[in-house]
Amino acid sequence: MSHFKEVNKKTVYGPVKSWRFGLSLGIDPIFRTSICSFNCVYCQLGQIQEITAKRDEFVKTESVIADYKEVLENHPKIDVVMYSGSGEPTLATNLGEMIDSIRAISPKTPQYILTNGTLLGDEFVAKDLLKLDKVTVKLDAVNEKYFQMINRPAEGVTFESTWQQMVEFRPTYHGEFEVQIMLMPMNKVDIQEFAKRLSELKPDLIQVNTPKRPYPLTWHRENRGNHEKIFDYKVSELKTMNKAEAQEIVDELRELTSLEFQMFS
Ligand code: SF4
Repeated sequence: MSHFKEVNKKTVYGPVKSWRFGLSLGIDPIFRTSICSFNCVYCQLGQIQEITAKRDEFVKTESVIADYKEVLENHPKIDVVMYSGSGEPTLATNLGEMIDSIRAISPKTPQYILTNGTLLGDEFVAKDLLKLDKVTVKLDAVNEKYFQMINRPAEGVTFESTWQQMVEFRPTYHGEFEVQIMLMPMNKVDIQEFAKRLSELKPDLIQVNTPKRPYPLTWHRENRGNHEKIFDYKVSELKTMNKAEAQEIVDELRELTSLEFQMFS
């Protein structure tokens, strides 16, 4: 436990073990505080400290690379590198530099990103993402009302603008393209619309989750990539959907779209 806490203080955190990816290292291009173009009601980071869609350099590439090399010394066998961390990784203007530098050190290690998709229309972001082996975009809502309620985006970020960017990016990307949905009780009414949008986007896989943990009321960097409840913090409980209900929705979506789904419970 204490070891996890130690390594989770750097721009590179983990490794996190999962049946899906094996040992993955998280890369945090945001790091200095939580910064995101969303402020999702279920975010494991808690209330986002800076809600913005403006790109910037938040941490020097050299610091990330120094941390990466240090973590690699203790864990030379890493299966995957995942850009995620303290907010939306595509907000970092030096994301592409990080991707290239890590590729030079570990040419065989696949590099993935978890993004909320709000910046896919930015030509520099799109160019950086084309270098990655897998892009996973978030799609928690398929209408403006629930998008605003669940994702609580930065000013000016709308469902339609985000959706358009995803649709335009999709055919340009030839790596694995996945969608991640956090199922909330309010989404039950939108299954047909979800099916329609997913059929249009044609992801290789749709990962469906339900919130597993209560919402932290304060920000803790240690909560990046942390799937164990090991840190003390004040939380508020979320209204969630039970597993059977979520499974029913996934089954219905699978039938309507013929796409591949994976449910995390
Ligand atoms: S997009 Fe991710 S990091 Fe940003 S608020 Fe939502 S869950 Fe948190």
